[in-house]
Amino acid sequence: MKKEKKAIVVGAGLVGTLWAILLAKRGYAVEVYERRGDIRRADIVGGRSINLAMSTRGWRALEKAGIKDKIRKVAIPMHGRKMHEVSGDLAFQPYSSDGQSIYSVSRAGLNLELMNIADQYDNVQFFFEHKCLDLDTRQFHLTFEDKRSGEVKEVTAPLIFGTDGAYSAIRYSLQKTPRFNFQQQFLDYGYKELSIPPTPSGDFAMDPNALHIWPRGRFMLIGLPNQDRSFTGTLFLSYEGAVAFENLKTDEQIMAFFEEYFPDAIPLMPNLLEDFHQNPTASLVTIRCAPWQYRQRVLLMGDASHAIVPFYGQGMNSGFEDCSLLDDLCDLYKEDWDQILPAFSKKRVPDANAIADLALRNFIEMRDLVSDPPFLLRKKIEKHLERKFPEQFLSVYSMVTFSNKPYSEALKETSVQDALFQRILAMDEIESRWNSEEVEQVFLNWIEEQNLVAAG
Ligand code: FAD
Repeated sequence: MKKEKKAIVVGAGLVGTLWAILLAKRGYAVEVYERRGDIRRADIVGGRSINLAMSTRGWRALEKAGIKDKIRKVAIPMHGRKMHEVSGDLAFQPYSSDGQSIYSVSRAGLNLELMNIADQYDNVQFFFEHKCLDLDTRQFHLTFEDKRSGEVKEVTAPLIFGTDGAYSAIRYSLQKTPRFNFQQQFLDYGYKELSIPPTPSGDFAMDPNALHIWPRGRFMLIGLPNQDRSFTGTLFLSYEGAVAFENLKTDEQIMAFFEEYFPDAIPLMPNLLEDFHQNPTASLVTIRCAPWQYRQRVLLMGDASHAIVPFYGQGMNSGFEDCSLLDDLCDLYKEDWDQILPAFSKKRVPDANAIADLALRNFIEMRDLVSDPPFLLRKKIEKHLERKFPEQFLSVYSMVTFSNKPYSEALKETSVQDALFQRILAMDEIESRWNSEEVEQVFLNWIEEQNLVAAG
């Protein structure tokens, strides 16, 4: 059934603003309610630079919104991982076999651009400093508190989109409806942002075209470049234990920790102690829920329905993919929302659960395996096979990062490819013949076996 072309979007973060643009393009009157003030106002912008890695799924959605080229111009390509050993030695590992990169973009800059684009549509109206308190799931009334006046008001629309992040008020209301499944899982790890400013001469302090990782087994530090030539460093560390945030309280403890594990990072962080004390230690949560839609009128998107840990760089990318896939379904079902919302939820929940699992696994890869010789050898062989057999082999990393294949396919492929590499890495003297014809033959035999399995 076609509904009146009016929608409410709750949450003007990355996903809500992008979705408002795509709805506006279709001629919907869109009201966007946001708890915070307008980040474009001079008194609100500022503070720490926080960046995100954008990859293929994110770019596809930005292309639909007509903003890809503009963002690409200010995005910094990262061609691979640069690993920092405790000794200070560096090792580079490219992300792809054919020169593809992920891109560091400013979170605030991207959000701001999306808001500017949305504002170009007469049919989009923003309501800042409006906090959603509740969704009445019988009448579909939303209650907002205007934080400036304290006034509480009720609004409604035929379509309501909850893009209000990991601690979504809309989801909380849906949690009280029958048969709504919900799971929230915190990691024992937290993270803290630490800045790496430009050098005194105004240059990047490290190679800007790489994602820097200091893998240390149970924990790690990473650094992504910013447009202003600084890097945002993020320390991921256990809350409790011998080496943990709970034991990093005094200046001496913090410095001793960095001297032991990240000595080459100390000269890059002149504000280390200040940042460490001032910046919060934030938690990492995975949210899973289903169904994402309620009575063909309400839909959760982005972190509101599927917050994931950041280790695959896919949180925003998967939220943006929600927008492009939902837009595709609008075409497929000719904007019949009674069909679109259930179809979207059914198709997307397994994929969101898959990327949640993949992101949790990638934490181990980033903090530990990236400095593990068999793992590095496997990566080298993966690239070789991708180059030599582009039609037949795509590594799981490339599938997630450089393709639009469903995440659930990538997750399934994980164990299949693990079996292949177990076979290859067990070959005699594999270190010296990793790109030999024998390895290729093992691969081709494996492909044949896969084809036989697929043929039943
Ligand atoms: P949010 O960005 O959380 O936006 C939600 C909006 O809703 C906010 O503006 C909020 O103010 C508003 N809101 C909340 N409650 C209410 C309410 N009651 N009423 C009204 N408004 C409300 N993803 C990547 O793809 N690549 C990365 O490299 C990456 N790195 C990350 C690193 C870290 C450390 C973390 C924590 C996350 C990272 N992510 C990354 C994930 C990414 O940040 C999120 O997936 C993305 O921001 C989700 O966007 P969203 O719009 O769904 O939610």
